[in-house]
Amino acid sequence: MFLPLTLDEAKKRGWNSIDIILVTGDAYIDHPSFGTAVIGRVLEKAGYTVGIIAMPNFMDPSSIEVMGRPNLFFGITSGNIDSMLARFTAFKKIRNDDPYVPGGMGGVKPSNAIITYCNLIKQRFKDVPIVIGGIEASMRRLVHYDFIQNKLRRSILVDSRADILVYGMGESQTVEIANRLSGGQSMEGISGTVTIARNKPLNAFLLPSEKDAMESNEALVTMYKQFYQNFQSKLIVQESGGRYIVHYPPPQISQHQLDSYYEVPYTRKPHPVYTRTIPAYTMIQYSINAHRGCAGGCSFCTLTLHQGKRIVSRSRDSIKQEITAIAAKKTIHITDIGGPSANMYGMECSIGGCNRESCVFPALCKHLKINTREWIDLMDEALTLPNVKKVSVGSGIRYDLFMWSKDCLRELSYFITHFVSGQLKVAPEHIDSTVLRAMRKVPLYPLAEFVKAFNHECKRQAKEYYLVPYLMTCQPGSTDSSVYRMRSEIEAIFGYVPYQCQAFIPLPMTLSSIQYYTGSDPLTGEMFFVEKNAKARRKQHGILMRR
Ligand code: SF4
Repeated sequence: MFLPLTLDEAKKRGWNSIDIILVTGDAYIDHPSFGTAVIGRVLEKAGYTVGIIAMPNFMDPSSIEVMGRPNLFFGITSGNIDSMLARFTAFKKIRNDDPYVPGGMGGVKPSNAIITYCNLIKQRFKDVPIVIGGIEASMRRLVHYDFIQNKLRRSILVDSRADILVYGMGESQTVEIANRLSGGQSMEGISGTVTIARNKPLNAFLLPSEKDAMESNEALVTMYKQFYQNFQSKLIVQESGGRYIVHYPPPQISQHQLDSYYEVPYTRKPHPVYTRTIPAYTMIQYSINAHRGCAGGCSFCTLTLHQGKRIVSRSRDSIKQEITAIAAKKTIHITDIGGPSANMYGMECSIGGCNRESCVFPALCKHLKINTREWIDLMDEALTLPNVKKVSVGSGIRYDLFMWSKDCLRELSYFITHFVSGQLKVAPEHIDSTVLRAMRKVPLYPLAEFVKAFNHECKRQAKEYYLVPYLMTCQPGSTDSSVYRMRSEIEAIFGYVPYQCQAFIPLPMTLSSIQYYTGSDPLTGEMFFVEKNAKARRKQHGILMRR
């Protein structure tokens, strides 16, 4: 049974009131790849009644009243992606599509969705606590650069006037918040949250103030350096207009906890109220999340700050149970078993962690246990389950980590035989050493060697498979001449230049966003050329895109 979208649906479940109302900019898809469904289901399992307001009409405050007044709080998210990215392209044009809504049409969610939804709630339910979360809240939790608006912004917790911000995936935090509010307790001190305090907490690491960071590039760079080097283990504080933003370290979830988030009764479908196809659902319907976290720490990516550097992998039993349930009534092709980087499943730190920003840059840390075999064994087992006709890896692999093990050529051969379906994505992103340094993505294995090994093996097995390289232009450090070089090297290595590539967008709170804004890498102090001119950015992108 779906979580209710209306009071009538809630009554049919026998609920006379709703404890928590989740508001999201996306359609409600009851599937573990969509944050609102996960948080709603986990809260339901913890004993709370939960309703969802999906895609409220942001021009009409009454759209926020359809489920009445919640007993505990409103939980607000923009949806699976930041609303500014959902609304605008890398060249700041309005998007006319949105894969997270029925029919895939753009314009359903507002810019700055979290702030907009919070304003609607404040107009109608002034005294109900508001919790903000999801990627938009997570990646705007402190002073950040907003590329679309081309300005620095303070923490979204201040601008939204919410009571607490949940960063990361948010399950344990949200349940703890519900428990505290139902017991009449304070929301202070919850791991993985950000709050505002009148007084500076004791024993906290003090960042440069909000005002200093917004007025001085030097203070902004220092703030980011200190934040990245300390947020994983310390209580962090930033002065903001006479009050203090308090950032608690992330929660350390266990495998058992992670398993439990997938063992709640998702229907794995969009709510039946939607009559049109939701493109994002079609894409991930048969994909399985196997782990959380990314050890990579690439400077342009949100993952390390959002999910954390530590990999937490689900147990094989939990994953197999999920696949068995999906395949109970029909034959299926599992289109992905992975996570942010599929083959990071099973990787772990042998000493339990540290404050380094990346486990693989500038060099592979000797404590990172790479375990490609465990991931392949998992897919092997999945393939033996009833009604599973194929398992493939749609999200792509981190090829240099794949090639790190002694047995890599044998594993590559086996992987191609069983788990590739037509094409395999890899993400060199660029080939220029300066750009790769800015990206914090120095390859641990030569790209050309990998491509050669892949093609050789496909030929040997008479498989017509090909590699699709993900590439990016306009990154800090990237110039017209480096993109020309990338074009010819990629053509030489892969035999073609891909039709699609990405123009860099500085995502809020990433290291790249600070490189873009200041020209300086907060962690190394290295200065990079940054192409900011819109026309010149288009030209640079066009070098790779032209046919
Ligand atoms: S010690 Fe090495 S493997 Fe462990 S968290 Fe730190 S960088 Fe990663």
